[in-house]
Amino acid sequence: HFISFEGIDGSGKSTQARLLADHLRAQGHDVVLTREPGGSPGAEEIRALVLQGDPDRWSAETELLLFTAARRDHMERLIAPSLAAGKIVICDRFADSTRMYQGLSRGDLRATVDALHELMIGREPDLTILIDMDPGEGLARAKGRQGSEERFEDFGADLQAAMRAGFLSLAEEFAARFRVIGGADEVDTIAANVQDTVAAFLA
Ligand code: C5P
Repeated sequence: HFISFEGIDGSGKSTQARLLADHLRAQGHDVVLTREPGGSPGAEEIRALVLQGDPDRWSAETELLLFTAARRDHMERLIAPSLAAGKIVICDRFADSTRMYQGLSRGDLRATVDALHELMIGREPDLTILIDMDPGEGLARAKGRQGSEERFEDFGADLQAAMRAGFLSLAEEFAARFRVIGGADEVDTIAANVQDTVAAFLA
C-alpha cells in the first residue's frame, strides 16, 4: 500500500506521517517512511539544488523537470521496490504537491505537470491524507522552526491561502483516494483520526 500525506507548509503533515509509521510498525507492519522532494540519495541531492540557494536560479519549467527527475529516482530506487516487497510506503508529499507548487504557484503548469507525471511516474498513491490547515496558523508554526527549508518567505500568505484552496479542490478531483483531516486539533487527536482513516482503508 502506498499512502501519501499532503498539506501546506506548517500543516503538521510530517509529524503525522511519522506518528502513523510508528503506529503501523507497532502493529507489526513493515513500513517505509519517506519524503519528497527527496527520499533517495539522488533525489535528496536534487532537493538541495532546488530548495537551497537563490530561489530564482531555476525557471518554473526547469524546477518542474528537477522535481520530476527527483520523483523518478525516488520511485525507481525506493518506492517501487518497497511496494513490490509488500511494504507499506508512507510518503510525506508526493505528486499532488507538484500539482500545487510547480503546477500553480509559479504560473499555470498543471497540464504539463500531469503530462510529465503520466510519462515518467505513472503511479498515484492508493490513499492520500490531506492535513487541512489555516495558512496563518501554518505560517506561525513553520516560522518557529530552525534551519527550515520552507518556502514561506518566497510564497507569502496569499499564495499559501491559494495552496490550501488548491489542495481542497484536488481532494475533490481525486475523491476516491483523498481523505481530508483537520489540522487544527491537538497532535494526538489528529493522529487518532489518521489511524482510523488508515484502518478503514486497510480493512
Ligand atoms: O514538506 P517540506 O517542508 O519538506 O517541503 C519543503 C519545501 O519545499 C516547502 O516549503 C514546500 O512548500 C516546498 N515544496 C515545493 N514543491 C514541492 C514540494 C515541496 O516547492 N513539490
